Amino acid sequence: MSESAPVIADPEISGGIMHVPLLGNPNTGKTTLFNALCGLRHKTSNFPGTTQEARIGVVRIGPASSDSEVHLVDLPGIYSLELDLMEAAICRDVLAGRLSPKGEPIGDPEAVCIVVDATNLARNLVFVGEVLRRRLPTVVALNMIDLARGQGREINLRTLEEQLGCRVVAVSARKGEGLDSLSAAIRAATVPTHTPPGDQSELEHWADRLAARAMQPAPGTSGSADAKLSLTDRLDPILVSPWTGIPIFVAVMVAVFYAIFSIAQFPMGWIDSLFGFTANWLEKVLPEGILSDLIARGVVTGIGATAVFVPQICLLFFLISLLEDTGYLARAALLMHRVLRPFGLPGHAFVPFLSSHACALPGIMSTRVIPDRRERMATILVAPFMTCSARLPVYVLVTSLLFKNHPLYAGLAFVGCYVLGAGAGLFSAFIARRTILKGPARPMVLELPTYKLPSLRTALATTIDRGWVFLKNAGTNILAICIVLWWLGSYPHVAAPERANVLRAQAIDLRAIAAAEPVPAKAQRADENANDLDREAQRLTAAHAQAHSFIGRGARFVQPVFAPLGYDWQLTVGVLTSFAAREVFVSTMAIVTSAGSDDTDEIVHDQGILESIASAPRDDGKTPIFTTATCWSVLVFFVLAMQCLPTLAVTAKEAGGAKWALLQLAWMSAVAYSAAFVVFQSFRLAGIS
Ligand code: GDP
Repeated sequence: MSESAPVIADPEISGGIMHVPLLGNPNTGKTTLFNALCGLRHKTSNFPGTTQEARIGVVRIGPASSDSEVHLVDLPGIYSLELDLMEAAICRDVLAGRLSPKGEPIGDPEAVCIVVDATNLARNLVFVGEVLRRRLPTVVALNMIDLARGQGREINLRTLEEQLGCRVVAVSARKGEGLDSLSAAIRAATVPTHTPPGDQSELEHWADRLAARAMQPAPGTSGSADAKLSLTDRLDPILVSPWTGIPIFVAVMVAVFYAIFSIAQFPMGWIDSLFGFTANWLEKVLPEGILSDLIARGVVTGIGATAVFVPQICLLFFLISLLEDTGYLARAALLMHRVLRPFGLPGHAFVPFLSSHACALPGIMSTRVIPDRRERMATILVAPFMTCSARLPVYVLVTSLLFKNHPLYAGLAFVGCYVLGAGAGLFSAFIARRTILKGPARPMVLELPTYKLPSLRTALATTIDRGWVFLKNAGTNILAICIVLWWLGSYPHVAAPERANVLRAQAIDLRAIAAAEPVPAKAQRADENANDLDREAQRLTAAHAQAHSFIGRGARFVQPVFAPLGYDWQLTVGVLTSFAAREVFVSTMAIVTSAGSDDTDEIVHDQGILESIASAPRDDGKTPIFTTATCWSVLVFFVLAMQCLPTLAVTAKEAGGAKWALLQLAWMSAVAYSAAFVVFQSFRLAGIS
């Protein structure tokens, strides 16, 4: 070990701002510590050239008047700097001053803060040794000190500081203990006085020795360590063994999904009404014309159709974060490893799949935890098969058409859709891992953290973060898609059909008769009849406009492709528009078949409109658009098809190329088409139309 004179990090050098990377093994409480130190004063961006997210938070040190600031850069949690992983490369580059989330390299960091789990000292010290060898001003944050004390582990800070040659501050990120001392120590960080061994196995001898020296059991507390350990020891055989673990896992998942559907429907209803009300109000106050139409029908309705899913997504992420914090999700991933392995996927894929049941976007982003590249790619490719919340309005519509007075059957069909989606995802992964993503299955290395009480603060932060990502997407991509769809569906403008003009003229005559009618009951009846005629005229005009719009013309052109699935040109309009975002299907069908309401909720709950979709005829005027066989074919198509442009964009980004997104689109479309074809033709052969 070599020794050198202390060098103190000087914030004056970089204009009062110190750049401090926050490093550590996964699960050491890095995120909790970052949140505790920076609160909401942080920004999220990406490390340039990578898909890895970076968070930079500001910690003020000293009185508010001084402009001394520490910019804490949250780096990905890793087990070793030497690993051949993108996350480890980012950490190496930041420590070497080659990379910063701001784009420009900002040189060597002025100080480094390593987060260490005090209950797992020896393993964490190996990583500390690797960082100390970089010879940068360093501070060790000895986190979870509350847990260590509770387990009867007393760590001698002075011994540890002497052995490491740098400051060690005991903190509890969870309880907010020791944070001021940590900030001050970061400000005064010095280059370590010792250099740990470079050889990996020697480093492990070194770490074991140090941990043994620094740890002394506090007198009289060893009993509680046994008690804490035995909680995890007692629970694990139950939760991880297949016999008891799988039923418990199923119960937990049922509870999670039950909560999502039962609780989220209230805020979903409010959001839906709010957007519906705003669209109607805007239509009233804005002068009639293209602008009013664009804002009320294109923009507000479009964003509303997406924003309505925010409560479900936030709730699912809130629950996922709580489950993750308790340590249960790691056990669930371990259990799922056995289920997923035969399909060539690791247990890590479980959390991305669970998230994809809310929305595939955050689901695909959470595949970053999967260490093996091929397994990660396979997970990304098949994640959109999981039933996301945007599919639900379609399921609600079609199952209520199929099973009008049988909610139980409708419920079973719903569950069937979830199972079909997940099954198709696993089947596709199986094929991908035996063809384009062929490679050995890695043994799963997954740390099982001890059970802890979850942190509400972390869960809320995750929820806000995910909800925001989703809303940002709604405000940009989905909005753009809605405007384009609105335009394609509204133009070119055509004159109202002759029949509508005749009906309107009749309505005017009827009103004149009503005005002259002396008997009030008769006058009222005549008025009502006039209103009916007007409504019918409006319906005909909307349907006529849709048929002659760009979308209508396009749909007539490609309809022969969808004819073997049982779709006429009107259903083809719905299917085509859904390729941009599947949530627009219901409102499109409502426009095609009825008087042009865009309100999904109204369509689903208002029997009148449901009836009108159910009974809407094809061009022959007799056959309904939605026959039994067509309903099943549509349902299967929507379970399996890739109908979401934003997901394709995220796939291209996360998988590293547009070719993966195109493959995903082609494969899912082919699977959806084939399955819907088989379903429709089977019904036909069985004599059911
Ligand atoms: P990361 O993976 O390093 O970012 O770790 P997290 O910040 O997600 O924390 C992992 C778990 O440890 C969470 O359940 C936290 O609530 C918990 N945790 C973090 N810091 C402390 C602490 O100081 N004391 C205790 N008891 N738990 C903590």
